[in-house]
Amino acid sequence: MRTLVTGGAGFIGSHLTEHLLSAGDEIVVLDDLSIGGEANLAAVSDHPGLRVVVGSVCDRDVVDRCVRDVDRVFHAAASVGVLRILEKPLQGLRTNMRGTEVVLDAALRHDVPILVTSTSEVYGKNSKVGLCEDDDRILGSPLKSRWSYAEAKAVAESLTKGYVTEHGLTAVIVRLFNTVGPRQTGQYGMVVPRFVGQALSGQPLTVYGGGEQIRCFCHVLDVVPAMVALLEDERAHGDVFNLGGTEQVSIADLAERVVAATGSTSEIVHLSYEQAYGEGFEDMRRRVPDSTKALERVGFRPRRSLDDVIADVADHWKSRLEVEHA
Ligand code: UDP
Repeated sequence: MRTLVTGGAGFIGSHLTEHLLSAGDEIVVLDDLSIGGEANLAAVSDHPGLRVVVGSVCDRDVVDRCVRDVDRVFHAAASVGVLRILEKPLQGLRTNMRGTEVVLDAALRHDVPILVTSTSEVYGKNSKVGLCEDDDRILGSPLKSRWSYAEAKAVAESLTKGYVTEHGLTAVIVRLFNTVGPRQTGQYGMVVPRFVGQALSGQPLTVYGGGEQIRCFCHVLDVVPAMVALLEDERAHGDVFNLGGTEQVSIADLAERVVAATGSTSEIVHLSYEQAYGEGFEDMRRRVPDSTKALERVGFRPRRSLDDVIADVADHWKSRLEVEHA
């Protein structure tokens, strides 16, 4: 099987690439290296089955050349992270909408199945416990850049659905809920690598707002096999699936658990949302998935706990620090 992974040098894409290479696939990675980097592929850089193409998913010619050579596509390229979206909303909109359209178009032209990676952000402020795929999207004003990521990803989903309905494209959409693990950067938000990095370098852990906001984190190594299984299951085609963890944790508790797990002496400080993100920022109060649909379709059941996630992210950080200080 020849597989294209867009965003394959990113956090999720690099884990997907490693997983597929070890399953025997030949992989083409298309990545503009804007957030990810070739260091994320260091473990497989000499693998004869890997080819890395540096380019943008918005570039029709490059995308066409990549898709033409493969049997299936995992579209994981995206502009992500709250801080990045606030700083570069246009880049986020273009990559996440236009880039997805370009990749979908090429998949249709070359008649290859595609998995499109979406996000729990599409539910917006809906804080129902156990969000299901059909639940409503509750968003703030389109003039607040904060919502532009949710907006763009929702459009990407609608585009996918449109290609399926109008052109019969074989496509499946996954909505990822706070996927975390080694190689995720804390540079643009992403609380787990931020807290672990702060704890290991003796900086204060920065809890935004009151810290009561709830998330369910899911280890990337639990998510990746489910993504593959969904694209390989014909009964999943044309549909959308939540993939998320089951353990609810408040951000204040997360900070304490990171401090305890790393043996850090860092203090935990609270910053207002205004201090963290600027004026008018709205956070999701609670984001808890219901992944029953993926469980029933492909047996998705996350096995790694939050403590496993913290330990793996901490190990990754320690090895990075060792490399930097070597
Ligand atoms: N957060 C925090 N401190 C940080 C970074 C994030 O308290 O240094 C909070 C953020 O406000 C949100 C939660 O942690 O409530 C998760 O943030 P992240 O950016 O990881 O993902 P989100 O769930 O917002 O997409």
